[in-house]
Amino acid sequence: MLRRKAFKFRLEPKPAARILLAQFAGCCRLVFNKALALQKELLEAEKSCLSYNKLAGKLRCWKQEKEWLFLKKCHSQPLQQTLMNLDNRTRQERFLCVECGYKENADFVGALNVLRAGHARLACGDIDLVGGLAQEPAQLATALA
Ligand SMILES: [Zn+2]
Repeated sequence: MLRRKAFKFRLEPKPAARILLAQFAGCCRLVFNKALALQKELLEAEKSCLSYNKLAGKLRCWKQEKEWLFLKKCHSQPLQQTLMNLDNRTRQERFLCVECGYKENADFVGALNVLRAGHARLACGDIDLVGGLAQEPAQLATALA
């Protein structure tokens, strides 16, 4: 028998560590927003977004600028991970159907799929809602078609 256990930890850093963690989080937020602004600027100019590698190159440049020197005090890994998160987010933002070429925001397509799956389950009677709805109402079925 497989037995799984979960542990919940609470970090209680000392004041100095607490300050460092807040600084790292602030640097990550700043780098994320700066890179996001850059990507938005490129998209608005109808250019393609920068890849993670190019963003990492930008980060190296930002760390040399007088205004952003404090970024050097932050470990590079969290800042790089921040850029990876942004890169993944922008890459996965757009949905493109390879069969029909349908394009839409990925979150919107995901929400539609969840809605359709929910309605399909309602229509099949898998879910017993209050009142035991065994079939979707006709208006919903035509709205979804
Ligand atoms: Zn399609």
